[in-house]
Amino acid sequence: MKLYEFHYRWEWELQSSPEALWPLLADTNRFNRDTGVPAVERRSNGGAKLTNLRRRLHLRRLGLAVDWEEEPFEWIRPQRFGVVRRYLSGPIATMRVLVEISPKSVGPKSGGGSRVVYQVWARPRNLLGLVAIPLQIGVISARRFAATIRRYDEFTAARPIAFALPARANFAPGGKARLLSLGDALLKQEVATKLVPRLLQTIEDADDLTLAKLRPYVLADFWQAPRREVLELCLWATRLGLLEFHWTLLCPLCRGAASEHKTLRDMQVRVHCESCNIDFSANFAQSVELTFRPSPAVREIELNEFCVGSPQLTPHIVAQQLLAAGAQRILHLPLESGRYRVRTLAHPGGQYLTVEPRGSPSAILKLQENGWPEEERRLATPATVHFENATAAEQLFMLERLVWNDQAVTAAEVTALQLFRDLFSSEALRPGAEFSVGSLAIVFTDLRGSTQLYREIGDAVAFSRVLNHFEILKEAIVTEGGAVVKTIGDAVMAVFRRPVAALRALLHAQQKLAAGPTPLHLKAGVHYGPCIAVTLNDRLDYFGSTINIAARLEGQSSGSDVVISAPVRNDPEVQEWLTLQSEPFVVAPIAATLKGFDEQRFDLWRVARH
Ligand SMILES: [Zn+2]
Repeated sequence: MKLYEFHYRWEWELQSSPEALWPLLADTNRFNRDTGVPAVERRSNGGAKLTNLRRRLHLRRLGLAVDWEEEPFEWIRPQRFGVVRRYLSGPIATMRVLVEISPKSVGPKSGGGSRVVYQVWARPRNLLGLVAIPLQIGVISARRFAATIRRYDEFTAARPIAFALPARANFAPGGKARLLSLGDALLKQEVATKLVPRLLQTIEDADDLTLAKLRPYVLADFWQAPRREVLELCLWATRLGLLEFHWTLLCPLCRGAASEHKTLRDMQVRVHCESCNIDFSANFAQSVELTFRPSPAVREIELNEFCVGSPQLTPHIVAQQLLAAGAQRILHLPLESGRYRVRTLAHPGGQYLTVEPRGSPSAILKLQENGWPEEERRLATPATVHFENATAAEQLFMLERLVWNDQAVTAAEVTALQLFRDLFSSEALRPGAEFSVGSLAIVFTDLRGSTQLYREIGDAVAFSRVLNHFEILKEAIVTEGGAVVKTIGDAVMAVFRRPVAALRALLHAQQKLAAGPTPLHLKAGVHYGPCIAVTLNDRLDYFGSTINIAARLEGQSSGSDVVISAPVRNDPEVQEWLTLQSEPFVVAPIAATLKGFDEQRFDLWRVARH
């Protein structure tokens, strides 16, 4: 017996724009939770592989076990999204959801606002479904959907730049008192004190989903505060027990969380992504993100999943569409300028696109059995895109922006920060694990003629002068956002994310040390290139040929110059900084053969004051 399909259609006129509503409405994990859907569990499909991000899911509702297979969500940001669910148990056989968001009025006199049309089609499995659907969807969901959508709209309309929906805090026993006393302790540290009350307020007021993954740079941008200050505030708050670390390893393909850990030590180098069914090596520079969450001793955070395929879980994917073999689909896309790629799960690579004002108004993006064309396409915005699946199998087309989120704090970045190394010296990697950290600026320094110094001014004075030199050097390094990795005798190894910061720190320290009655001469060199992070003597260290080369540059320095390699010299920020100085530095080439690298010739330069 095939039962009648129910159809519900709700329409709302809202004040906020589609762009403002999208992050909340298309966050179906949040929406499901806010409308009272129970938490879902992922289930295996009994060994059979599900294709194209289909998933087996389970939940319990009113004591009833409900199992279903979920199709991948399809969407075009910020216009529409939808999903189809085929139930294996429970009162419903199939359910289809489609949400469309359009601007309320178009044209120069448009007052903004959106029209949201929410539709549900549900076919009952049995007689219970005939009763349950009109009650559950027609009455309960209808009321909750309307209330939740109105709440989102009021929130985004009142705060065009929002950080988190307000929510009633679920404090742990004694949590509120702990929050206040840890706040006092935080004020006594070297942090930007004006940010402390804001952090406390956030921990108290923000909703669970935001607090489960607190991003310091998102907070900083929202507070209009320097990003490093907010990151350092979060590090101190973690040291004191107000926040906890949350390290997420992101899959390089889908950028979903492939594994999540409380410490770096728990992180594996080789990881498997369930969604993409690929193995990959963790890369600190891009794929390991550090977020924070409140300590459970302060506030308990809801960590259940309510929807696993939400468009907002992969916000870099602007359009996702499931195309049967041989199918075509036309999409009208409002795209921001930048580079994009269309890919599917079954074929390597993708079709690359650049969106720019002079690009073409339309393009056919066609996948054939032998893969994607190599030629990059140029598209205007808005553009009409034809997805074409010319293969013999169903394909999930994903159009994604290629830039990585610049509001993410990466492991490479935070481990190169002095405060992190000072506060979390035990946060090392699993012994033997090696992680690529991308390119870093590696600095080595040494004191010139320190033996002579000991002879001239006596051991005691010379020793305190040498100790004092570490302080001055470290201060210069920290001011520029770098970190001391280790000291070996009078020598120091330090690391920076950007070459220009390393150069500035060294020139500054050199000048400061050369002043005074017993001047010290700091020999210094900087090299920039890819590095590998490891744990050495229980501490985060680096190795690789970049470090070996960097270690030898200091030997070429006279003690009143900084020796830099070609990657440092050619760095655009370094070039710009050198030309912007009121008293320009002398940058003179030196030809040198470095020990241990006899077969290579290195182009080196000396950077010195006049
Ligand atoms: Zn993946």
